[in-house]
Amino acid sequence: MPFPFDNSYVNLPDGFFQKVDPTPVSAPEWIALSREFAAELGIDVDKLDSPEGLAFLAGNAKPEGSDPLSMAYSGHQFGGFSPQLGDGRAILLGELIGKNDGVRRDIQLKGSGPTPFSRRGDGRSALGPVLREYLVSEAMAALGVPTTRALAAIWTGDNVLRDRGYEPGGVFTRVGKSHIRVGTFQWFAARQDHENLRVLADYVIDRHYPDSRDSENPYRTLLENVIQRQAQLIAKWMHLGFIHGVMNTDNMAISGETIDYGPCAFMDDYDPAKKFSFIDQQGRYAYSNQPTMAHWNLTRLAEAMLPLLADSDDKAVTEAESALEKFPDIFQTALVSGFTKKIGIENGDEDDWKIVQSLLALMHDSNADFTLTFRHLRNAAQDSSETDDRPVIDLFQSPEPISKWLAEWRSHLQKAGISAEAATAQMLSVNPVFIPRNHRIEAAIQAGMKQDYEPFNQLHQILKKPFEEQPEFSEFEAAPEASEVVCETFCGT
Ligand code: AMP
Ligand code: MG
Repeated sequence: MPFPFDNSYVNLPDGFFQKVDPTPVSAPEWIALSREFAAELGIDVDKLDSPEGLAFLAGNAKPEGSDPLSMAYSGHQFGGFSPQLGDGRAILLGELIGKNDGVRRDIQLKGSGPTPFSRRGDGRSALGPVLREYLVSEAMAALGVPTTRALAAIWTGDNVLRDRGYEPGGVFTRVGKSHIRVGTFQWFAARQDHENLRVLADYVIDRHYPDSRDSENPYRTLLENVIQRQAQLIAKWMHLGFIHGVMNTDNMAISGETIDYGPCAFMDDYDPAKKFSFIDQQGRYAYSNQPTMAHWNLTRLAEAMLPLLADSDDKAVTEAESALEKFPDIFQTALVSGFTKKIGIENGDEDDWKIVQSLLALMHDSNADFTLTFRHLRNAAQDSSETDDRPVIDLFQSPEPISKWLAEWRSHLQKAGISAEAATAQMLSVNPVFIPRNHRIEAAIQAGMKQDYEPFNQLHQILKKPFEEQPEFSEFEAAPEASEVVCETFCGT
């Protein structure tokens, strides 16, 4: 059997989940299977890469050791609370312990049929969102961002009905350190089920934050640890111009991994107010709102955890507030550290940050491409040939302000005793050449819907090495032409 399952969530009390089997599909075919990642997970790759393995990941057969379930959770969606969400189209097949790292991970099928939490949904996924999640989550992993991963994508042979009509269906195999969300805590808090709230917190401590156990107030330490990981995660998104698009509390993982790639996108031209999601008309989850919204979500987590934080209500509120107060500083420190690295400064401080901010202001004025600006800075630390500066300058509407900035930046590096070589090496390791640009994803999806997976495979391949120049694929670096710009993205649920 391919999967050496070692399940734990299924041993939690009944209220945590509903057992449910996947619903078979008509004629499954592989689109992608990550053999490399499967091996890291301890899976017998040759057994998985077979008609039998395909049947397992399509939901047409149940692998030995699997005890499938859908997880219960609530969530604040765009500010409004829904007590009854849960995995409406996802089923946890089981858990595996990583071969090299010993980390426990969930193997989850997404789009594998209705569950007791499906409400009016069909429990299925359209192929487009499956391909998008595959490409973007794997790109995020290669870019060094904590994220759920893609193990496989399958074409089901069935169609699903969506707003735009019938579309081919897909099943995605998602792998995550767990699928416990802020909304999982809210599920028990909303039901005033304090006993299971504690069981959940204990499970999370054991699985994700074992060090919290030794502290004076383990639940308070757990909350602080989640706050820290989320603050650091959102900073990483900001460094890459990533916009999640649907940061509801049911889409925020307690593990600190990025989860739920729906209407997400990397921005091309820099605009702090940028948003892509069709359903986010107000821009609640726009690029620069992400830290505020993460803090808001963590406040909902703290609220849900109140019964665990202290014996009295007042004391619990004080504990929650003092943990939440730490978010802005942790976020700002991570933000500054990452952004100053992007201009070649390893241990950046607030002065270095001011230089980044003046660059960002110029980028905003000119609608300069976010990724390309930093990508070309990689070659401009040396003082200074016209040819090295040209690619940066060309991204801006007029040459003077950015030329002045470049000169100031180089003199700042010099004064700080940072050599051009050191700055360049620093920038090479953090400023990507390739990101999953919207128009490229869109092209891969459009071809994929016609069962041409070549553009998908090619993009996936390029994005495995996002920091390396790949001259044969240099056109994949480029910002979209005006006619190619994708202005809106859809959940496609
Ligand atoms: P999302 O916006 O993808 O995070 O989903 C929000 C909620 O809607 C979750 O509870 C999902 O399980 C549920 N959901 C989304 N799409 C479907 C679908 N096609 N069928 C059933 N439930 C769904
Ligand atoms: Mg979700």
